Amino acid sequence: MATALSMPTKVDTVPDAYGTALAQYDRAVSHLDIPNDIIEYMRYPRREFTVNFPVRRDNGEVEMFTGYRVHHSTVLGPSKGGLRYSLHVDINEVRALAMWMTWKCSLMNLPFGGAKGGVIVDPSTLSLGELERLTRRYASELIPIISPQSDIPAPDMGTTPQMMAWMMDTYSMTMGYSVPAIVTGKPIHIGGSQGRTVATGRGVIICMMEALKRHGISNAENTRVIVQGFGNVGSNAALYAQEMGFKVVGVSDVAGGIYNPDGLDVEAVYAYSRETGSVCDYPNAENVTNTELLVLPCDVLIPAAMEGQLTAKNADDIHARFIVEGANGPTTPEADDILNDRGVVIVPDILANAGGVVVSYFEWVQDLQSFFWEEEEIFRQLQRVMIRGYDVTVRTAEEYGVDLRTAAQLAAIKRVADAIKTRGFYP
Ligand code: GLU
Repeated sequence: MATALSMPTKVDTVPDAYGTALAQYDRAVSHLDIPNDIIEYMRYPRREFTVNFPVRRDNGEVEMFTGYRVHHSTVLGPSKGGLRYSLHVDINEVRALAMWMTWKCSLMNLPFGGAKGGVIVDPSTLSLGELERLTRRYASELIPIISPQSDIPAPDMGTTPQMMAWMMDTYSMTMGYSVPAIVTGKPIHIGGSQGRTVATGRGVIICMMEALKRHGISNAENTRVIVQGFGNVGSNAALYAQEMGFKVVGVSDVAGGIYNPDGLDVEAVYAYSRETGSVCDYPNAENVTNTELLVLPCDVLIPAAMEGQLTAKNADDIHARFIVEGANGPTTPEADDILNDRGVVIVPDILANAGGVVVSYFEWVQDLQSFFWEEEEIFRQLQRVMIRGYDVTVRTAEEYGVDLRTAAQLAAIKRVADAIKTRGFYP
C-alpha cells in the first residue's frame, strides 16, 4: 500500500526577499506625492492561494507537495509572472516576487499586473515522469485562479518550456479545447514565441550595453563581464555578451564557478555544462566558489542566480563598476546603499531582467490572435521596449535625484497608482 511521505521543507539560507521588496517600496513611495490609502493598498498582495497536493513517485509511494500562487496586483490587467520550483520557495518569497512582477510589468508599460507562483521542491530530485505528474497536478490545482484573461503563468527558476507545455495541456484538457494563451514560455510548435527562451538574457545585455554607452564605454573586447548563475537567464546573457564582443571572464552555477581573466569561450562552457551538468572543472579556467566569483576583478557583474546575493557583507568588496540584475532581488537594501555610495551603477532587476516578460507579452498577444511573428520582429520590438524602459528609468532618476532602482520603482508605482486613482475604490 502506498504511504504518504513527509513534505519537502523549505531551505532558509538567503536574506528575506519580502523584507527587501517592502523596504524598496517604502523608499520609492517616500518620493511620491500619492494618497496614503493608495500607498497602503499597493503594499498588499491582492490574493494568495496555497495548495497542498499529492504526487505519485515512481516507486509507487505518494508524496505531498505545497505550492503557491500570489496575485499582487490586477490593476493594469491580468496578473503575469513565473512559476518557481525550488526548496527556497515560501509564501514570503512568492509575495516579494509577485510584487516585483507588478512593478516590472508597469515599468515596461505592459497591460499586466503582477503574480508569482512556486512549489517547494528540488526538481533535480524528481524523474521526468514525476515532474510531469507534479506539474499537471499543480496546474489543475491552479485552475480556479488562472486563465488567459486573469492570470498567465510562465517559467521561472527550476521550470522549463516542457513544463509549460504540460500546464497548457492540463488546462486545455480540462476546458475541452486548446488554450495556448494560458501560459507563456511554451515550446514554439505549440504556440510559443520566437525568441522567448533567450529573451531575458538578451534583455539583460541590451541594458548592460545601454548603461555602458551612457557612461561613455564603447570598447566591448576590453569590458570584462562576470555572470553568476548559468540557468536560462545567466547562460543566455553570457552567450549574448560574447556574441556582442564582450569578454566574459567568469560564470557560475549552483555547484560553483569558473574564472579566466583572459576570457572564457562561453559556447564551449555551455556545451561542457550541458554534458557534465555543471560549469565546474571546465578545463581552461580556475575553479572558484560562488562567494569568490562575485568579488573577482571585472567591469560588469551580472547576478543571475537568486535573491539576496549582494549584501552588506560583500558589497564593499565588489570590483564591478556596473551591476546588471538578471535575477530578481539579488541586492539587499543595505548593499544598495553601500554600492550607491561607492558610485556603482546598478541596473535594477525590474528593468534589467524584464526581457522575459516582455516577450511573454508578445507570446500572449500572438496566441490570442493566432497570428505569429518572425524572430526578427520579436527582437526588434524587444530592443524597442527595453530601451524605452531604460529611458524612462534614467529620466525619472534625473527628475527625482534618485538611483536607478528607486527611479524604476517610482515610475512603475506611479503608473499603478494613477490607474487605481482613475478606476477608484470598489464599491
Ligand atoms: N519569470 C520571469 C520573470 O521573473 C518571466 C515572467 C513571465 O514571463 O511572465 O520576469
